[in-house]
Amino acid sequence: MQAELFVGRVGSARVDLVAVGVHAGRGAPSSAVLTLDRALGGALRAAMLDEEFKGKAKERLTLHTLGRLPMKRIGLIGLGPEREATLETWLHFAANATRLANRVGARSVLVVVPPTGVEVAKLLAVLSRGLALGAYRFDRLKSAPRRRRTLVHAMLALGDRPPGRTAAVAAVKRGSTIAAAVTLARDLANEPASELYPESFTARAGAVARQHRLAVRVFDPAALQRRGMRLILAVGAGSVRSPRLVHLTYRPPRSRSTLALVGKGITFDSGGLCLKQPASMADMKMDMSGAAVVLATLQAVARLRLPLTVHGVLALAENMPSGSAAKLGDVIESAAGKTVEIGNTDAEGRLVLADALHYATTLKPDLVVDVATLTAACAIALGPHTGGLFTPDDDVAAEILEAAAQAGEGFWRLPLTLQLRDQLKSEVADLKNTSERNGGAIAAALFLKEFVGDLPWAHLDIAGPAASAKDDGAWSKGGTGISVATLTELLRARAAGTRPGA
Ligand code: MN
Ligand code: MN
Repeated sequence: MQAELFVGRVGSARVDLVAVGVHAGRGAPSSAVLTLDRALGGALRAAMLDEEFKGKAKERLTLHTLGRLPMKRIGLIGLGPEREATLETWLHFAANATRLANRVGARSVLVVVPPTGVEVAKLLAVLSRGLALGAYRFDRLKSAPRRRRTLVHAMLALGDRPPGRTAAVAAVKRGSTIAAAVTLARDLANEPASELYPESFTARAGAVARQHRLAVRVFDPAALQRRGMRLILAVGAGSVRSPRLVHLTYRPPRSRSTLALVGKGITFDSGGLCLKQPASMADMKMDMSGAAVVLATLQAVARLRLPLTVHGVLALAENMPSGSAAKLGDVIESAAGKTVEIGNTDAEGRLVLADALHYATTLKPDLVVDVATLTAACAIALGPHTGGLFTPDDDVAAEILEAAAQAGEGFWRLPLTLQLRDQLKSEVADLKNTSERNGGAIAAALFLKEFVGDLPWAHLDIAGPAASAKDDGAWSKGGTGISVATLTELLRARAAGTRPGA
């Protein structure tokens, strides 16, 4: 579903639902509320008063117009306080409009955006993405869909701020392109491990590559052996599903710069011989979210035809216990030549990433960014909505945080505290893959840093926000696809030779 721009008076819209965003704590109602209220002879504001609708973030108020206006229903959606509004607010607002439309069985919705200081093109892009993502759900494996999705037609009304037609259409299209990429990342994350394992993930990546003319190179176990990527092999050694490394390249005719994205793709993390408890194993089909994000971002970049070269490296393995699994105390030589002692088989993400990051450095990009559901410590530190950002480079940190703000996604920079580097020392090898409990997310990032050399590098730990416990605005229960929008904003800015949001 791609949103259209609505030109005309809101009160005359012939739709099933008009969804209006309302800020909390506003003295005077917005002009859209006033117009609709007047047309209904004061019924809308009376209902707001009676239902104590204040515009708080979770509040909704739906009113049937009973034929007194061309639209069937009016739905008010609380936005929270105006001063707290960010692009994320508008993203979730649009998704909530879609949710409300489907809940009341509307086929068409007109979304009315209250006045905001945000640049119209940016606003349209997040609204368009939110409208699409509000309809997301993973029901492919259900014999009958849970609830019907009625909404087929969405329109956006920007009141008295009509944007330039071409820029507006491009922004709306960009939003839906990013939504399609996020949808791909979510679908892959939500897929059970019985269906999505390294070989089948490779086939899915191949299909995306064919569709968008990406070059693709697959390293099977024999090729991994030849390239010395023994850490990836060690992580996959306990599984009957053998590991893969997939290298995708988007190479446009004109390229301004080269970036590499590296994704952790553990299609199931049982913990290996250091077996997880059932409660912490339950969501481990989603331990490939980083690789899904990288594949999805390449799809977005190709569809947006950005003028820069982007490498995507997917490190795919299934971490299982068995007679052939890696054991504690094993020492494995990485592709970079450094030897690693396995102190815990459940710290497998940094192992596959070490070989994949080293591979990425051989591509000589201007920047490498890895994305991984890496540590429970990061989820504990930042909670379920915010990803951790690690980089030694202040400029790169600022650039990525600005890209995240433009994307309406939450990232927070954490330090690479060098004192923790000592924890990675091994008696018998160059490094070990475990550290103390406190500062675990930092120690994991420091481990990765050992494999990127002097290359500008950033690491996104999305262990917290990769999955959502509930449907929540633009997020749906299960995989969230977080990072796709942030990375796309980062690449868009690099392609334009500017800073994100400029
Ligand atoms: Mn693990
Ligand atoms: Mn893992």
